[in-house]
Amino acid sequence: MIADVIEPIVHCDVAIVGGGPSGLAAAIQLRKAGIEHVVVLDREAEVGGIPRHCGHPPFGWPEFRRVLKGPEYASRLHEAAIAEGVDIRTNVNVVRIESGPLLHVSTSAGTAKIEAAKVLLATGARETPRSARLVSGTRPMGVLTTGALQSMVYLKSRKPFLHPVIVGTELVAYSALLTCRHAGIRPVAMIEERKRPTAWKSSIWLPRLLGIRSLFNTELVSIEGKERVSGVAVRLDSGHIEQIPCDGVVFCGQFVAESTLACMGHLKLNSGCGIPVTDQFGRCSDPNIFAAGNVLHPADSSGRCWREGIRTASHIVRSLAGDLPSAFDTVAIESTSPTVRYVFPQRLVFDHRSTKSVSLWVKFSDEAQGTLHLKIGDRSVVSKRVRTLPEKQVQLAVSSSILSSKPTSLKLVFEPSS
Ligand SMILES: Cc1cc2nc3c(=O)[nH]c(=O)nc-3n(C[C@H](O)[C@H](O)[C@H](O)COP(=O)(O)OP(=O)(O)OC[C@H]3O[C@@H](n4cnc5c(N)ncnc54)[C@H](O)[C@@H]3O)c2cc1C
Repeated sequence: MIADVIEPIVHCDVAIVGGGPSGLAAAIQLRKAGIEHVVVLDREAEVGGIPRHCGHPPFGWPEFRRVLKGPEYASRLHEAAIAEGVDIRTNVNVVRIESGPLLHVSTSAGTAKIEAAKVLLATGARETPRSARLVSGTRPMGVLTTGALQSMVYLKSRKPFLHPVIVGTELVAYSALLTCRHAGIRPVAMIEERKRPTAWKSSIWLPRLLGIRSLFNTELVSIEGKERVSGVAVRLDSGHIEQIPCDGVVFCGQFVAESTLACMGHLKLNSGCGIPVTDQFGRCSDPNIFAAGNVLHPADSSGRCWREGIRTASHIVRSLAGDLPSAFDTVAIESTSPTVRYVFPQRLVFDHRSTKSVSLWVKFSDEAQGTLHLKIGDRSVVSKRVRTLPEKQVQLAVSSSILSSKPTSLKLVFEPSS
């Protein structure tokens, strides 16, 4: 069933907020596991999430063993969900979540409520826009994030500018370059505050091949222009300020979790970065609410979010059957190292029946080299030598033997090499 109308109150087994790769994967898996009524709610006109806006490859290898463009990938997931009998509701914005769980939604026809035995938050992540980056200058038209640029180019066939400056070198910045190329837009420069690309070192070749100037150790000072962008001022490595004429600016990356719902509700968030706190089962501080995908680790590939959706669905099935270890036997992982941006999951359930190891994923805010420890008291129970770049994640495996008896505290400590 697909609909964008909703009855005043809907009762279901599982309500999924967000119809991107993680939400749709979870919905399909839940139906395959025999869960009767699974509802996917999305505020957009169609489900598919971010890939629907990305008219370039590579999507779909883990899922379909095919290299697909984003929209094709999104429609395959959509079709698979329909074939499994998922109840898809689009143009439905979830505006509040309460314990119960109870969702308050807003549609063009008014408001409604959804009562579910379990809820999955799969609301994804978004890039940091200009307003949150504190860039000075005027406020002209032509300043976008990659996501906004893609929805204009791929969904509305619009060309918002001809010669923009691309800000940032995370992987998504290369997606912005490909989008510009597709639309016949020719960026004048790509600028990065760090001394090397945030994505792979080799990614430097794409702008070079496209004849686009790459400036490292370069900071965006201000955006200029009255109605439309007419240029930007940048501080170069030498300290010199250069004016670059351009008609647009694309802010790329610096992803943050789309966690407004969790934030306004009763769920606990990781204080540093607004990510809902979960255990290794994807269970939030309210044990009837789960989370999966980029809302937990902004931002990863669609394949990883899809896999996580499937895994979390199997935990939800166990939870519906009352078979998941108690949420009360959790210990929070305390992390005080300034270079650690986040650890996910942020708490672990200890259970003497544990037979599987658990992966902790740690993201650093900057380049880091040293040793990462998981400590119980002062004793290191897991350690790993780390040499990593910003935005890359480090995996730390916690064995089932460690998870079998509950400690009083857990600490994640990073010791930089001297
Ligand atoms: C520009 C760009 C290029 C990318 N390129 C690639 C690539 O080439 N290959 C690749 O593998 N990955 C790529 N990715 C990453 C990939 O798109 C993400 O990993 C994936 O989409 C994350 O899936 P998700 O389900 O967690 O979230 P999303 O895809 O973000 O889906 C979240 C959904 O939740 C909905 N939603 C949010 N809040 C609410 C609410 N309150 N009420 C109702 N609905 C709500 C949104 O409308 C959205 O549909 C790219 C990402 C970006 C931004």
